[in-house]
Amino acid sequence: MEEIVSLCKRRGFVFQSSEIYGGFASCWDYGPLGAELKRNVKNAWWRAVVQERDDMVGLDSSILMHPKIWEASGHIATFNDPLVDCKTCKSRFRADHLDTTPCPQKSSKMAGQAEPCALTEARLFNLMFKTHVGPVDRDDDSNVAYLRPETAQGIFVNFPNVLTTSRKKLPFGIAQIGKAFRNEITPGNFTFRTREFEQMEIEYFCRPEDAPRLHEEWIQARYQWYLDLGMKRENLSLRPHEKDELAHYAQSAESTGTTDIEYQFPFMDKPAELEGIANRADFDLSQHAKFSGQKLTYFDQANNEHITPYVIEPSAGADRATLAFLVDAYHEEEVKEGDTRVVLKFHPQLAPVKVAILPLAKNKAPIVEVAQRLRGDLAKKMVAQYDDTAGIGKLYRRQDEIGTPYCVTVDFDTVEKDNAVTVRDRDTMQQERIALDQVKNYLLDKLDV
Ligand code: ATP
Repeated sequence: MEEIVSLCKRRGFVFQSSEIYGGFASCWDYGPLGAELKRNVKNAWWRAVVQERDDMVGLDSSILMHPKIWEASGHIATFNDPLVDCKTCKSRFRADHLDTTPCPQKSSKMAGQAEPCALTEARLFNLMFKTHVGPVDRDDDSNVAYLRPETAQGIFVNFPNVLTTSRKKLPFGIAQIGKAFRNEITPGNFTFRTREFEQMEIEYFCRPEDAPRLHEEWIQARYQWYLDLGMKRENLSLRPHEKDELAHYAQSAESTGTTDIEYQFPFMDKPAELEGIANRADFDLSQHAKFSGQKLTYFDQANNEHITPYVIEPSAGADRATLAFLVDAYHEEEVKEGDTRVVLKFHPQLAPVKVAILPLAKNKAPIVEVAQRLRGDLAKKMVAQYDDTAGIGKLYRRQDEIGTPYCVTVDFDTVEKDNAVTVRDRDTMQQERIALDQVKNYLLDKLDV
């Protein structure tokens, strides 16, 4: 974990938020490379679940919504975590996480040094951030609004709008990427659990009898997405929820529950959730119909009936997925005896920089000119970086460390002899001589971006 956090900071993937003011608990900022990486994760998701499918459409709903939505969804009544305090060391914990984050007092007690920990009874703590809308902070709650704790509800309340404008037939789904906020009791593990994060959610509407089959199909499709983007199979697992941990919407007899896709982070003692795929039955549409007084049904022409569709919800975290892809890509390799390199073996679609253009002599005008022109040309199709600030060996290591799949060197032969460049592959470190006018196609073909 320390190596990853330090690499993230040193190379500009992730910075502590508000660092010059001493930081702000559990908030992180994505630096230049992190912003590209996270954007690539979100784009890969959007492409796979919206653009490549005929049964899906996208949505971008607002963060602030009518407060009644959170009554209908059950968040005001049930979106609580059990909070316990240790009276000795004054730390706070989630009662249901005590096995993974024990009170520090307890561990030091085991070392025979401190007073015993003294945990209070658990009390429920609502995770939604409250705010006031408009210029006046009234004492009463009449202008209260909430920062959304999930993007899902923005999809449910837009169900009739999307249905009429897109004219989709069941089964079809709506996807959305956006920020969500939860006042987590114990954020931590770097960007794994934060109070502000981004979700990538799908609500897939279907006939009730098709829900069990589609639930299973979505579990497989989402699991495959991580594999297709290069995540190692041995670090991924599927875990169906136990009955007692199911969310309120998945507890009904009609639901086929929730299955999590989990990832074994090296800094955690057991696999942790990347994404949950739930069968929410007709809970949300029925609740919103009840609370809004509107009809949220679907007219099934073939059967000539109005039904409330069932919903399969694959709900992923963009920050968690980004962290998992980063950790999974991290390799330390011995290149020659005593010489190791750090390399991030990102899938080309995810790599923040696709190609680096490295002039072998930074003061030779013809070399610089060709290299700059090549960068400009490639940059129209992919993220291309120009770097002449060190010797070639060091430049290669730098690009390996940020996961750039290809480096192109422009040398004396390029301008004096063969009008070709050397292309180096990040993973194999093999080099190939490619004609200048072929480089773009060569890279586009290899990168498949
Ligand atoms: P957990 O049990 O870890 O608190 P959850 O089951 O409450 O998570 P969901 O409500 O299913 O999480 O949210 C869907 C996804 O959103 C999660 O799989 C995760 O990737 C992401 N997510 C949820 N909470 C956070 C958080 N505090 N920080 C970062 N990502 C989060």
